[in-house]
Amino acid sequence: MLIDGKKVAQQVEAEVREELAGLRYAPSLVVIRVGNDPASEVYVRSKAKKAKELGLRGTESIFDASMSEAGLLAEIDRLNRDDDVDGILVQLPLPRQIDSKKVIRAIDPRKDVDGFHPINVGLLHLGQPSLVPCTPAGVMRLIASTGTKMEGTRAVVIGRSDIVGKPVAALLLRENATVTICHSRTRDLPSVAREADILVAAIGKPRFVTATMVKRGAVVIDVGINRLDGRLTGDVDEAVRDIASWITPVPGGVGPMTIAMLMSNTVTAAKARRQ
Ligand code: NAP
Repeated sequence: MLIDGKKVAQQVEAEVREELAGLRYAPSLVVIRVGNDPASEVYVRSKAKKAKELGLRGTESIFDASMSEAGLLAEIDRLNRDDDVDGILVQLPLPRQIDSKKVIRAIDPRKDVDGFHPINVGLLHLGQPSLVPCTPAGVMRLIASTGTKMEGTRAVVIGRSDIVGKPVAALLLRENATVTICHSRTRDLPSVAREADILVAAIGKPRFVTATMVKRGAVVIDVGINRLDGRLTGDVDEAVRDIASWITPVPGGVGPMTIAMLMSNTVTAAKARRQ
């Protein structure tokens, strides 16, 4: 069956609205964009728009592509010290002259709603409360929405990026799954993938996961967003739909969850810092 990401995202948004109703303030999210990358323009606009729609304060902060690293670090320092700002998100990628690792480290971990700061990454891997990266958090909500008990299952994550693969693996481990991470050097990846009760594909290669790589009845989460012949295509071949018990479509699966989880993270950050 298909997992309806839009529906699960709406549930998360309803929870955010409910939490906001119980607060005496509207948490504020600042989304920073440097330069004019067309995809970033869309993402930043939709993040700020969704924040406003749900009753948060969402601000787009846009800077010229020629901005210096020092200039961006100064801006982050200003936002860190602004008590009225709850969440800071710097849209990646950044122009070449700016070191994104340095920028992420400069964000106050309490305001790091993307969950990329080394402090939050460390807390996640220690299994302690932290701000969790949005797409991986969305993946977990989608798996949970199927009613699948994760404890004791074999989970395989294909991809080991810092923004998707590694945090997804840490979250699955936290749920007591037995987790294997595959990457470009994995030997005989298809046979590892076939062992998975829960298979998460975060590779960035269209239709990489084929039906012969999936165990019948597995839950398959397709994080991939690839453009193929003018269409959005996931990392998982559509033929896998006949094998999986549950599977996310692309588009309409993981995609809608990312912004919803960002909203949820902003409320979490605000509550933790202001309490
Ligand atoms: P990434 O940083 O490029 O990482 C890709 C990972 O896949 C790497 O760990 C790489 O292994 C592995 N890989 C590449 N080719 C492989 C192969 N032939 N066999 C096995 N593993 C292979 O990508 P990412 O940022 O994690 O993103 C992955 C996909 O998710 C992309 O399509 C991206 O657009 C999508 N995405 C979607 C959302 C969303 O829905 N909101 C958010 C983020 C990303 P090595 O480490 O060995 O190189």
